[in-house]
Amino acid sequence: MVNPKYVYLFEEADGANKNLLGGKGAGLAEMTRMGLPVPPGFIVTTEACLHFYKNKKKLPKGLVEEVEASLRTVEEKAGKKFGSAQNPLFFSVRSGAAISMPGMMDTILNLGLNDKTLEGLIRITSDGRFAYDAYRRFIQLFGKIALGVEEKEFDQILIQTKEKAGAKEDTELDGDHLKDICRQYLRLIKKKTGTPFPQDPTVQLRLAIEAVFRSWMGKRAVDYRKEFNITPEMANGTAVNVCTMVFGNMGFDSATGVAFTRDPGTGENVLYGEYLVNAQGEDVVAGIRTPKPIQAMKKEMPKTYRELERVRKNLEGHFHEVQDFEFTVEKGTLYILQTRNGKMNAQAIVRTSKDMVSEKLVNREKAVLRLKPHELEQLLHKRIDPNFKGKPIAVGLAASPGAASGKAILDADEAERVGKLGHKVILVREETKPEDIHGFFASQGILTTRGGKTSHAAVVARGMGKPCVSGCEELRIDPAKREASIKNATVKEGDLITIDGSRGEVYLGEIPTVDPEISKDLLTILNWADEIRTLGVRANADTSESAIRARQLGAEGIGLCRTERMFNAADRLPVVREMILAGSKEKRGAAIAALLPMQRSDFKEIFRAMAGLPVTIRLLDPPLHEFLPSAEELAEELRKLKEVESAFSTMENISDAMKFLDPAFRESLGLLDHVVTDIVEIKEKRLDRKLIRKQHDTLRKVKEMMEVNPMLGHRGVRLGITYPEIYRMQIQAILEAAAELIKEGFDIQPEIMVPQVCTAQELKWVWQLVLKVQKEVEKQYGIKIPFKFGTMIEVVRACMRAGRLAEGADFFSFGTNDLTQATFSFSREDAENKFLPLYNQRKILQDNPFEVLDVKGVGRLMMIAIEWGRKTKPDLKIGICGEHGGHPESIEFSHSIGLSYVSCSVPRLPIARLAAAHAKLKEKEKKPLEKYDPDVFGIPSV
Ligand code: PEP
Ligand code: MG
Repeated sequence: MVNPKYVYLFEEADGANKNLLGGKGAGLAEMTRMGLPVPPGFIVTTEACLHFYKNKKKLPKGLVEEVEASLRTVEEKAGKKFGSAQNPLFFSVRSGAAISMPGMMDTILNLGLNDKTLEGLIRITSDGRFAYDAYRRFIQLFGKIALGVEEKEFDQILIQTKEKAGAKEDTELDGDHLKDICRQYLRLIKKKTGTPFPQDPTVQLRLAIEAVFRSWMGKRAVDYRKEFNITPEMANGTAVNVCTMVFGNMGFDSATGVAFTRDPGTGENVLYGEYLVNAQGEDVVAGIRTPKPIQAMKKEMPKTYRELERVRKNLEGHFHEVQDFEFTVEKGTLYILQTRNGKMNAQAIVRTSKDMVSEKLVNREKAVLRLKPHELEQLLHKRIDPNFKGKPIAVGLAASPGAASGKAILDADEAERVGKLGHKVILVREETKPEDIHGFFASQGILTTRGGKTSHAAVVARGMGKPCVSGCEELRIDPAKREASIKNATVKEGDLITIDGSRGEVYLGEIPTVDPEISKDLLTILNWADEIRTLGVRANADTSESAIRARQLGAEGIGLCRTERMFNAADRLPVVREMILAGSKEKRGAAIAALLPMQRSDFKEIFRAMAGLPVTIRLLDPPLHEFLPSAEELAEELRKLKEVESAFSTMENISDAMKFLDPAFRESLGLLDHVVTDIVEIKEKRLDRKLIRKQHDTLRKVKEMMEVNPMLGHRGVRLGITYPEIYRMQIQAILEAAAELIKEGFDIQPEIMVPQVCTAQELKWVWQLVLKVQKEVEKQYGIKIPFKFGTMIEVVRACMRAGRLAEGADFFSFGTNDLTQATFSFSREDAENKFLPLYNQRKILQDNPFEVLDVKGVGRLMMIAIEWGRKTKPDLKIGICGEHGGHPESIEFSHSIGLSYVSCSVPRLPIARLAAAHAKLKEKEKKPLEKYDPDVFGIPSV
């Protein structure tokens, strides 16, 4: 059998084959073929690495001969000789896998140095100190990597020599010290390995290649691959790049530097980078000298600068991507040592994408693909200024992204008061409740000491697009002292703090932030994304303000309007409570009648904001007791009221007892007498016995309504069927709002959606109610009201009965928040707070299924529901409105299983638009569903 070819000269290799050559090797090969000035060299392939492991860590047969043959060619090209004392050739030997794993594998520089070639290096650099420094570094690196001598042994020698020489820094050592260190290092190696340091450069080269191969399975590299999920399909083995060393420290016509073809911070189309004259790359890394901006080269080395400009054009023209490259100038000759795609921040990606389309370097599709949805997130929220270097005082959960500063305020009423005075506020609570909503409105951000990423605070803050740090348990709130403390810091109410909801951090004081940016360039990219995508994008929005914002951000309608948020508004909550607590049907009717115009006007404003686009309104979902204070709170209030009452009674007794006192003595107690009389009067006239009774009634009702498992309890359509007057009122409000606007000439597209449905009979029941109300409203307004009727799919049984449900629905919308809970039988709050982090850490679950859609379980249920639903009704419109609707990978999945649209929170709309375009473009790359689960095709058909 003929051995495969293991070694390729740079000019021989096909740079497109990253898997075989590694990223670095491929770049060197491409640049050589393009005619760029790359020092001569060759690549030992990743295939050789795989054979090395198959072959008990021995180099495969024929490899050494191939290396030697390539070496001869390189010597000829470089006009230098490996091992020569007169004109020595040195190599850098670098690792390089198909995927970049920076710093995880080994590299050896100045290979070929020995006692003889050292003389040559001294001569060509005219710098003895540098040559000995290079030699001692080489012996140490080679000794450690190729020969396995422990680093600390070398360090000890260095420390001792420095002590003797009275030197604090390495740089204070002179040539003689370094020469002495080289001698000691060579002795150490002989002692530790039993053989002298290999002076033969070809032996050095063989050992170095083996060492780089070994580093592929080193702990660092293995851990890195595990952490970043780098599979063998992505990178299998490392290549070894053997490249002629060129020296940037051969005088003032030599230099070394790093450059980007465009500014990676702003995206500006200018050569960007740094360089050092008469220096080696290591000087830059060690920070011994400060490099100059590359623009300074225009004056200092004009010829090289012009060459670099040409290289920049060539690289971009060839790779169609911004490049990050390394160069060295040796005696006026420019060499390019490496190139790779430049890493940039989101702002720079946006600008370069737009510019590169104008320059015809890339097409619109490529420009859209360059911007990753996760990176876009950076641009959509206020962030802490990246130049800020301070430390947080506490860290909690990153519950809603963005940064905000304001006065720490410990309750919602005070937040509202302080906010009205024009101050910025951060609401700081143990946890929040629906009745704190006015505090949310008044605040820039929310910080809680309890609760997870789905606590009330987190969910509401995300819905409002405000930053939130939740579960910051280190922080203790003392309501009596009106302060919050942590270790040795205390935040008094009113002190300025800053929270970073993207990272879960809390800072003292006002920290500088940078604003989010939807620049013109970004809008252009998003418009291109809209042209590409076929998946619809809607918003989850429940106020007219957020509907307007959603429209500005490109929403094609509302996919979920949660009506409970309206019930929680400050002016509604008391009426909603009356409705719940009503002892009779009449009383409930009165409360509901009061709610009707409020809901109607809510819907009208939302419809108006979304005129011409569909608006899905979900009928009431949460259990009613969520609108009432908690039993603990009520009991506490009652306890206090009772204490006051008993204090009054005591006073009353005193008053009675005073009748029996000696009138003269009583006279002397005149004042007390008055006080007691006043108190009795207060008790009679002012103590609100009704309040106590009302609190008693509320407590009784709350206890009555308490559920062991509210999530699986009296909610959603179950509630609608048991209290039909609530759903009736909501349906009426929706249809009346639509009718009024239609009469004004607007194009209104209401969609009524029923939550928590699990049987077709439930849906049918609500449909009958809708028909009844529709008839009445149409009669009242004298017009036909077009609308759609559909159901949430968030219960496992609903997926199983999708075929039947589709008979009574115009659309489905997957509520994947509940569907995930139901599929896993995890309560989200408990899972995220108790065991999910451990599950993720132990890789029992790869992701948090409440953030990243579980395509294998929940996803499969969705596929069944889609298949069966569309079998009944081929044009059934199907969306997703759980939080996953805004998550890029879940959006990709949603596209591939044929959903009509995703609906996400308003701030995530740009991400969803971009992700939907990515999904469409990636569709060409792979067979749609195979990626998710090979056994997905085993689904039985109905
Ligand atoms: C869902 O369950 O996914 C959903 C959108 O409903 P909610 O989050 O309001 O329960
Ligand atoms: Mg739900």
